[in-house]
Amino acid sequence: MTRVVVGHLYPDYLNIYADRGNIAVLERRARWRGHELEVRAIGAGDAVQPGEVDLFYVGGGQDREQALIAPDLAAKGDALRAEVADGTALLAVCGGYQLLGRFYLDTDGVEQPGVGLFPHETVAGERRMIGDVLIECELDPGQRRTVAGFENHAGRTRLDLDAVPLGRVVAGFGNDGESGFEGCRVGRAIGTYLHGPLLPRNPWLADWLLRQALGHAEGGDPPELEPLEDELEADAHAVSSRRARERGGRF
Ligand code: GLN
Repeated sequence: MTRVVVGHLYPDYLNIYADRGNIAVLERRARWRGHELEVRAIGAGDAVQPGEVDLFYVGGGQDREQALIAPDLAAKGDALRAEVADGTALLAVCGGYQLLGRFYLDTDGVEQPGVGLFPHETVAGERRMIGDVLIECELDPGQRRTVAGFENHAGRTRLDLDAVPLGRVVAGFGNDGESGFEGCRVGRAIGTYLHGPLLPRNPWLADWLLRQALGHAEGGDPPELEPLEDELEADAHAVSSRRARERGGRF
């Protein structure tokens, strides 16, 4: 049994579309394999202690909520970047994903400071990018998988030229509706616009994150996990992928 510590950043502010449901998925999938997940809230003014957390989680929010916590999150930037460089896993969704880049210029023209973990910048556009989305990823070499979800964002995220996207858009908008990229990856950290919620319908991604977190907790490579049946999850994925293919985000 391994205890995995999840550091949930600003659970009271960043939880749009019940993003915290992603943590429930991680908790249950860990327990089914005999592991334990402990969730610690990290709020404004709380310090990020070295080595304490195996997986950070940041959910999405409205511009207003994001603006309230952005300076505090940016002040944790050095610590968060150091932790990820040291092998801590991280999942950031939508608003959280935006704030982990260099900055987010929001719909009011206010520049919200970022953490500088992901090599990207985000600027809000006129029209929101809303709809079902399907992307194709290859997080482990040779293993192509799809991720299905829902996106709703004004921000257009531009990756630096040498940045690694989470995946390529099959249907929907993704980072900016133009580049064909969705999300970003740095080591064991991934950021994405997909919520609605992300992990219940993409169990392979939940397990990938869990494996990274277990690797950090156990001080080694990510261990293999016993497969689960995942019938309902596969159905949810199929429905969501079909919706994205049929009417994935377009203006
Ligand atoms: N406030 C951000 C935007 O609209 C993110 C919204 C969200 O988390 N859904 O771009």
